[in-house]
Amino acid sequence: MTARILIVDDVPTNTRLLEARLAAEYYQVSSARDGFEALERAQIWQPDLILLDVMMPGMDGFECCRQLKAHDSTLHIPVVMVTALGESAERLRGLEAGADDFLTKPIEYETLMARMRSLVRLKRLLDEWRARVETARAMGVGDDRASVPGVTGTQALAIDPSAGSLATIAHGLALDGIQTHPAHTGAEAIAAAARHTFDLIVVNANLPNDDALKLISALRASDSTHETPLLLVAEPGDKARVLRGFELGASDWLTMPVDANELRARARNQIRRKIYQDRFRADLGTALELAVVDPLTSLYNQRYLRRHLDELMRRREGPPIALLMLDVDHFKAVNDRFGHANGDIALKAIADTLRANVRAFDSAARYGGEEFVVVMPGSGIDDATAAAERLRAAVETVVFEPVPGQRHPLTISVGVACAPAESATPDTLLRAADRALYEAKRLGRNRVELAPMAEA
Ligand code: GH3
Ligand code: MG
Ligand code: MG
Repeated sequence: MTARILIVDDVPTNTRLLEARLAAEYYQVSSARDGFEALERAQIWQPDLILLDVMMPGMDGFECCRQLKAHDSTLHIPVVMVTALGESAERLRGLEAGADDFLTKPIEYETLMARMRSLVRLKRLLDEWRARVETARAMGVGDDRASVPGVTGTQALAIDPSAGSLATIAHGLALDGIQTHPAHTGAEAIAAAARHTFDLIVVNANLPNDDALKLISALRASDSTHETPLLLVAEPGDKARVLRGFELGASDWLTMPVDANELRARARNQIRRKIYQDRFRADLGTALELAVVDPLTSLYNQRYLRRHLDELMRRREGPPIALLMLDVDHFKAVNDRFGHANGDIALKAIADTLRANVRAFDSAARYGGEEFVVVMPGSGIDDATAAAERLRAAVETVVFEPVPGQRHPLTISVGVACAPAESATPDTLLRAADRALYEAKRLGRNRVELAPMAEA
């Protein structure tokens, strides 16, 4: 996995060393000499990760990080702060500024690589969601929700053999309104995760009676927790286990003894990421729905119908497919007499009737203005004709009373076409049904006509 890395450091020797090592791993590297240059470069070049020195003249790393995280175009880029001192207060300041991680100089190469892989992987995922949400927005659907989500009311699962550590974790997280469910063993954790949905999992890498790494992979494999942020708590010297934990899907780690503030900051960042991800997903669901559903009738739209037909008919062999083309009779008169708004009400009533009268695996779509299509996979001509007749009769019973006391009849004409999947295309099937529909209109409307089998 290659990625673009922006290195920000005021000392060229530091930069060059790191640049060479990263380039050797096929990363694309660019560098900036100070905070101002970093902001500009980040906006234009859109790196996948920023390695940010803390001590720089002019604008220090904390301020630079804050500005990166305050900007819409850069807030999604992970920032790893690089400091000369491993001071807890300094770490906290960086994390408060929105940094995603901290590394101490001299940089430990393996740790850096593991963190970079994990952060870049996460960013890629978010990029994909962002792109889809952007597309939806460009199409005029979806909304803007740039606000930074809060973590109050979220739930954490903490797994630690020591009651003291569990208390420290619970107390720290409670300061941000995060409620902690304690678990002393892996089995307890798995049981709790099956009952509740958690927004964060904190796991001690050293469980006396469990293999913590096995527990992590079990949590990652389970549907309810496979995307839940997971913080690993490990002894400072336990590098191998931490690296293995990252490979298995841990999101972040912190050293023992747990520093409550560091835990808080890391927990907040991870939970926020998760909330963003969930939001993107929800937006995508809405966007997809809007893209395939007709807004007036809530039936599928023509775009969806065509794709669905393509998909059904792509598989050459298979059961036959029937298609009904339905058109409202004398609908222009409804608009002319009662106005367009009442016309819309009539269309909705007809659509509701169609929806209520097709089988679960049939799909009803609005094909155009007052034209509808019902696709019936696996149906022969007899089933399709019966269904068409049922729909025709059902529409006839719709009570449409645009003016109180003045019921206006609504009827449809239906053309039916049926074809073995291998001998037809969506277009030939649609055309055959359309011709049959035309015939139904010609023969007096409010009736069902079949397309000659040869044509279908
Ligand atoms: P026929 O029985 O031959 O189908 O006659 P018709 O009047 O239904 O056919 P025509 O194609 O002449 O008119 C269709 C009308 O449907 C014209 C158009 O204004 C109206 N229409 C199309 N879409 C909508 C819509 O979304 N809302 C409303 N209210 N009217 C629509
Ligand atoms: Mg019509
Ligand atoms: Mg028409």
